[in-house]
Amino acid sequence: MRAASWFQPHPPYAARGEGCWVVDIDGRRLLDCANNFFSLIHGHAFGPVLDAVREAMTKGTAFGMPTESEILLAEALAARSPRMEQTRFCNSGTEAVLAAVKGARALTGRHRIAKFEGCYHGAYDWVEVSLDPAPANWDDENGNPASVRCNAGTPDSVLRETVVLPYDDPQRCADILRREGRSLAAVIVDPHASRAGTVPMTKETATVVQAACRRDGIMLIADEVISFRLSFEGASPLFGLEPDLVTTAKIIGGGLPIGAVSGPADRMSVFDHSTGKPKVSMGGTFSANPLSMAAGLASLAHYCQSAVDRMNGLGDRLRQEVRNGFAKAGVAATVTGMGSLFRLHLGPDEVTGYRSAFANAEKAKLTRRIHLAMLNESILLTPNCSGALSTPMTGAEVLSIADKLVHVVERELSARQGVAG
Ligand code: PMP
Repeated sequence: MRAASWFQPHPPYAARGEGCWVVDIDGRRLLDCANNFFSLIHGHAFGPVLDAVREAMTKGTAFGMPTESEILLAEALAARSPRMEQTRFCNSGTEAVLAAVKGARALTGRHRIAKFEGCYHGAYDWVEVSLDPAPANWDDENGNPASVRCNAGTPDSVLRETVVLPYDDPQRCADILRREGRSLAAVIVDPHASRAGTVPMTKETATVVQAACRRDGIMLIADEVISFRLSFEGASPLFGLEPDLVTTAKIIGGGLPIGAVSGPADRMSVFDHSTGKPKVSMGGTFSANPLSMAAGLASLAHYCQSAVDRMNGLGDRLRQEVRNGFAKAGVAATVTGMGSLFRLHLGPDEVTGYRSAFANAEKAKLTRRIHLAMLNESILLTPNCSGALSTPMTGAEVLSIADKLVHVVERELSARQGVAG
C-alpha cells in the first residue's frame, strides 16, 4: 500500500467510484475530497474520460511508436499557456520533476538546485531535501533553513547540492539567492504548496525568485503538479512567474498515470533527440501511452474556463463557510487554500508557510482524530485534513463538507479541553 494512503487503525478499501462519491468494500458511500491525491478533477468514472479510454483501448494499449494522441495533449497544454509551448510526457510528477532538474542542469552547466522548505516535489533525492524537517533541526548556524535529510541514507553530497529557501520570508530568500544564485542550475517552486500549508506564496517571494533567476541565469522550474488546476493557464501567471520549465501531472492525465515537462522551445531543446544524442534523454516504456493521453485530453477539454471558475467559486465558498463557522463557534482553527484546494489547520495562529503549518505531536494527533471523525461523517479527506473539490460537486456537497468540518472540529477540540480540564 502507498504510504500516503495508510492511516490507523486501517484505511477503508475502495470498491468503486461514482462522480464525487467513492464506495468502499463494506458498501459505505464517502464524499471524496481526496480524489486520488487531487488527480481526479472530474471525480470518478467520468463519462467522457471512460469513453475516450475505451475508444483508445480498442486500438491497442501501448506502442513502440509515437501516437497522434500525444501531439493532441501537448497542443491542448500549449493552447492553455504560452509557457507550455512544447511538452514531453512521462508517467508521474516525480519523473517530470526529475527530468526538469536534469534539463536545468544541462541548460546551465551547474548542478546545485534550490527548493523551498517543506515543499513536496516527488521522490527525486535532491527535491526531497528538507521535505519534513522538525523544529530542532530546521535552522543552520546562520539562521537560514538547513538542508535536512528526509530519507535515511541520502548522501551528504545531495544535501550540499540543495539550497533550502524559506517559503514566507522574502528578505531571507533574497539574501540566500544573492549568495548562492550563481551556483544554481534551478529554483523549483510550487507557488501554492500543499506541504507548506496549502497557502499561496506571497507575491514578494515570487518576485524575489523570478528576479534572482533572471539576474543569475538560473532556470525557474514551476512545479504545478497540483497547482495547475488553480487557473485555466495554470498557477504561474497568478503569481507573476514566467518559468523556464513547468512540471505537471495528476489532472492532466484524467485519472491515469502521467507526468509532463513543458516549456518554451529554446528550453525544451535540451531534450531534443532529432539531430543526435540530446543533452538530456527522456525515455520511459509507458511514457505518452495512448490511454493516459486520451484520458488527459478528455479531462482537460472539460476543465474549460467556466469549469475552472465554477470550481474556484465553490472553493471560495467552502473556505468562507468554514471560517464563518469556526468564528461563530469560537473555534481556534482555520482553513487555508486557494481555488478548489483546502486544508484544515488547528490553533489560533495564522498559517503562512511550512513552519507555521507544522503540527507538533499533539496537533498531529488531533488532526488524525478529526480525519477519522470526518470519515465517520462519510467525508474522505487526506490524512492531514486537506482536500480538493471535483466538478461533479455542487453547492450542496460544499455546504455539507463545511458544515461537517465545523462540527467535527468543534466537537473534537471541546472533547480535548474536557479531558485537559
Ligand atoms: N510535485 C508535487 C507538487 C506534488 O504534489 C507531487 C505529488 N503529490 C509530485 C510532484 C509527485 O507526483 P507523482 O506522485 O505523480 O510522482
